Parts: sequence; C-alpha cells; structure tokens
Amino acid sequence: MAKASKHKSALKEQDGVSQQETTNTSSIKAIKQKRKSQPTANDLVAEILKGNITALSRAITLIESKNTSHLEKANTIIKACLPHANQSIRIGITGVPGVGKSTFIEAFGKHLTAQNKKVAVLAIDPSSSLTKGSILGDKTRMEDLVKDKNAFIRPSPSGESLGGVARKTRETIILCEAAGFDTIIIETVGVGQSETAVHSMVDFFLLLKLAGAGDELQGIKRGIIEMADAIAINKADGDNLKKAKLAKVEFNRALHLYPKKESSWNPKVILCSALHNDGIDDIWKIIEEYIVLTSESGYLNQKRKDQNAFWLIQTIEEQLKGAFFNDSKIKEELQKQIQLIEADKTTPFAAADYLLSLNK
Ligand code: GDP
Repeated sequence: MAKASKHKSALKEQDGVSQQETTNTSSIKAIKQKRKSQPTANDLVAEILKGNITALSRAITLIESKNTSHLEKANTIIKACLPHANQSIRIGITGVPGVGKSTFIEAFGKHLTAQNKKVAVLAIDPSSSLTKGSILGDKTRMEDLVKDKNAFIRPSPSGESLGGVARKTRETIILCEAAGFDTIIIETVGVGQSETAVHSMVDFFLLLKLAGAGDELQGIKRGIIEMADAIAINKADGDNLKKAKLAKVEFNRALHLYPKKESSWNPKVILCSALHNDGIDDIWKIIEEYIVLTSESGYLNQKRKDQNAFWLIQTIEEQLKGAFFNDSKIKEELQKQIQLIEADKTTPFAAADYLLSLNK
C-alpha cells in the first residue's frame, strides 16, 4: 500500500514536471510565435503608407525606444517614409498652462476633421522628465478628438531631454505625414525653451494668450511673441470679452514695433473662445492665407530646408557634446581642472583647451 502511494506520488511528480515542461515549451512557442509575428520594418512601412494607425503607433514606439535594434528598425522606417513626407501643414501651438490649449486643439482639430482633414497632435513637453507627470501628456485631455478616426494624438515621450523629445517629434512628424496626416499640430507649454524647438519644426506658429493677465503673469517671453505668426486671445467670452477686445488693440500696437518678418507676413491678432467654438474657423482661414502667401513666394519651401539644416547642426552638436562629457577620462580630468581653476592655477580657457586636446 505504502509502495503504491509512493508510486502514485512519483507519478504525480512526474506529471507535474511534464506539465511544467509542457507549459515551458508552449510559452517558448508563444514567444517564438510572437517574435515571428513582430512586423518587419517593411511591413510597418507598407501599413503606415496605407494609413494604419496601429502600425504608425508601433513605429513611433520604436523611435522612442532606448533599444539599439529598435532604433535601427526605426531608422529604416523613417528613411522609407521620407519620400512620402512633407505633404502637410505643420502648426505649432503654445501658451501657458490653463490658457486653453487642449480645449483649443480639441475644437480646432474637430473643425478640421469635419472637413475630412487628418489631424495629428504631438506634444513637446520636457516637463515630463522633470516632474515625472507631464503637463501636457495626461490622457484625459482632448477626450473627443481622441475618439475621432481622423485624428491621432500622441503625448510627448517621458523621461527625455528637450533635445531628445525634439528629435523624436521631428521623426514622428515624418511618419505621420507618410500615414496621410495633412495637418500636424505640435503643442508645447509656453514657459521655456521648448517654443524655440517647436518654432524650428513648424510652418506656422500660433500663440494662445489670455486677456488682462500682464505678460509677466503669463510667463510669456518677448521672444515668443516675436516668433508668433498669429496671437489668439482665448476665453474671449462672457465677462472677459471686453478685456479681450482691449488686449487685441494692445497686441496689434505692440506687434508693429517688431521688425518685419522675413516671410513678409504680418502677424495677426484674433479673439477666440475655444470653449464656445468661436473664432476657430477664422484662425484656420488665417493659416490657409499664410500657407498660400508663403508657398507662392517660395518662403515656405526655403524655411523647411533651413529647418533641416538647423536640425542637422543641432544633432551633431548634441552628439559631440554628449560623447565628450560622457567620456570617463574627460569626466575625471574635468574635475581636476575645476579644482585648478579654483586654486588660480589655470584659467577656464587654458583648461578648456587642455580638455579638448585630450579628446582628439
Ligand atoms: P491648457 O492647460 O492650456 O491645456 O488649458 P485647458 O484647455 O485645460 O483649459 C483650462 C481651463 O480653461 C479649463 O477649465 C477650460 O474649460 C477653460 N477654457 C478653455 N478655453 C476656454 C474658453 O475659450 N473660454 C472659457 N471661458 N474657458 C475656457
């Protein structure tokens, strides 16, 4: 009896092992199957060109990955998509938190999709790397536009430097255009350097403002106003309308003080209420007018070429800097040179020459 039960338990054990093995084998099979089903770069390109959003999202995830093989695959995809890019209007939208960016983009985006346009909304939000929660990226924003089949919304990759986000956004623009999106909106918070990055990747730059909250309060720098092709004073509704009208007069006056733009475009000031859908169509008409003017003059084409050259130089600078400062020898010597400078034994310039000479 004892023998029999021992035998039974041995069998059970054996059974257990074999079951475990079966599970292992089947999960390995599943992994292999999954690997097999991972689309190749060519598969993804073919699907992106058909406008397949899932393929587009997957390719963007590859762009955002830190894995070298993913990045290689992403580069192949970007290269293949490049001949199909450049066919959209790229619009930058900026403004301080609370000005109504997401309300505006939702209204504006829906206005465009209703005209059968395909709208992609990308965000540049380096705050996400600092605060861990992004100002722009939370999922509850633009709830209606998210559901629109002609819209695609992608939050900024988190944990990235501004340079990293900017590069990824530029690459994402290429893929979105190849997927047939004809209007690309790049959104950013109007408080830091990210506007300059956005300005150098879009055709038209729209600044959202509020009436009656002095410039200092709005945290908008003079340079951003100078970059704007249009200033929309949002929340021009209810009790705020009167103030908004006054602000429009003031901005128009202020804009006259800036030098004429290279595009020969006169920046416009408009009132809008994103909440009540007022002025949205006027803003789109202004953008269309701008595109016609600058396409005919050749400015738009030249601007895109200049932007590409800018990003080339920018990328080289960033990579050189990264390689230099991440070098372990340089890190060590840099500390020593700082101490020498503090002890008045060398100058910052001599130290820089020395450190750069180590890297040759
Ligand atoms: P964001 O932080 O710039 O994206 O701003 P939101 O779009 O989240 O808007 C901030 C707040 O302002 C929300 O409570 C909106 O409902 C409100 N808001 C946005 N646009 C308007 C507008 O045109 N008029 C009024 N009265 N409120 C608005």
